[in-house]
Formats: sequence, structure tokens, C-alpha cells
Amino acid sequence: MIARNFDAILFDAGGILLLPDPTVLGPLLAYHGGDGSEAAHRRAHYSGMAAKSAAQSVESFWHEYDLAYVRSVGVFDHEIELAAAVLERTRNAYTWRWPIPESVRALQALHAVGLPMGVISNASGQIAEVLQRSGVCQVGDGPHTPVRVIIDSHVVGVSKPDPRIFEFALEHFPGADRARIAYVGDSVTMDVGGARAAGLHPILLDPYDDHVGADFARLCSLEELL
Ligand SMILES: [Mg+2]
Repeated sequence: MIARNFDAILFDAGGILLLPDPTVLGPLLAYHGGDGSEAAHRRAHYSGMAAKSAAQSVESFWHEYDLAYVRSVGVFDHEIELAAAVLERTRNAYTWRWPIPESVRALQALHAVGLPMGVISNASGQIAEVLQRSGVCQVGDGPHTPVRVIIDSHVVGVSKPDPRIFEFALEHFPGADRARIAYVGDSVTMDVGGARAAGLHPILLDPYDDHVGADFARLCSLEELL
């Protein structure tokens, strides 16, 4: 699965470029017995996404995610529900701000080889600003990696898995064959399902092999695209 197989690559933001900030959630859940380390919280995000995908939860429903997340960091058994409630109250759009180092490096390198890129995110109107502040990317020239477009579902009024959200980005890649445009996400239902319905090539970022045997392409890290 390498970038030269594609004419362009589009990325989800949450779980692909940014994670819920482990420097916030680490101490939050350590109070309930959880492992506060960055490594434990990185892993917990993908455990949460696997649980959310397995339950086929809609974008706005995160209960399975929260339960799997707090279990993954090892909170006390008798505090699973409490810790999940605390996580749900604390994790909000603005805490999705921790840049994934491998992803930031991969984006820089993909730009260096001239690959056209864009971002499509189910977000709250904040994602372009957070991607810039967190040092990931911006539309056009600037201090970080340039991308052609950043689509925020709140801004365009359509969210994944509705395939229409991808059209807002595709107009920035005129002439490209959409079967040769990859979309990399971390949700089977939102990202793989939505990208497939739009005729794109779906890829799941699955760093912990939670989806062995899946009928779609998977990556351990965006650096595998290089
Ligand atoms: Mg995501």
C-alpha cells in the first residue's frame, strides 16, 4: 500500500492526524486507576474505535468507545462506568489536538514527493484551525504541510458516512480518477463505508491489528505510504 498507487490521498483527521490529547486524558483517567502514559492512551483510542465500529454506532454516539477506552487504559473494574462517564464529559472537539508524530512526518514526506492531499473530517467547525495550531497542515502555503483542502462536516453540513461529503473535497482534484484516490480513516463504518460509497479507495489506519482479516486495506502507520 504505497502512495504511488494513488493520484491523491485524503485523510480523516481524528485518529489519523490528531488524537484526543493524552496529556489531558492521562491524568484524568489515572485518578480512576488508568495508565496515564502516552502509549496506553494511543492504544486506547484504537480500542475505542474498534468497539465503536463493531457496534456500528453513529458519529454522535461514543458510549462503546468510552467503555473500551477506559478498559484499555486499565481503570479499576468497579469504576469502568464512572470513568467512561468522566471521559465522555471531558473529551470534546477541542481535545482532539494531539498530533500523531508519525503522521506529521509522513505528511511532510508525501508532500515532498508531490502527492496531492486533503483532509475530510466529521468535526465541529474547528478542525482547520486545530490542524494548523497543532503543527500538522494548512490549506496552501504556510508553516506546516500544505494540503489542497480541509473539509469540516459542520461547515459543509454533511457528515461521513454520507458519501456526499467527499464531493466537497473531490472538486479540488479535477481530472483525478476517484478509484485512484485513497481515503485513510480509523472508522470502519464512517470512513471505510463512506469512502467506498463515494467510489474512493478506503484504507483503515489499524496500528494494533484490531481488524485482521478485514476486506479492506489497512496500514499500521501513515509512514507505510512512503
Ligand atoms: Mg477518525
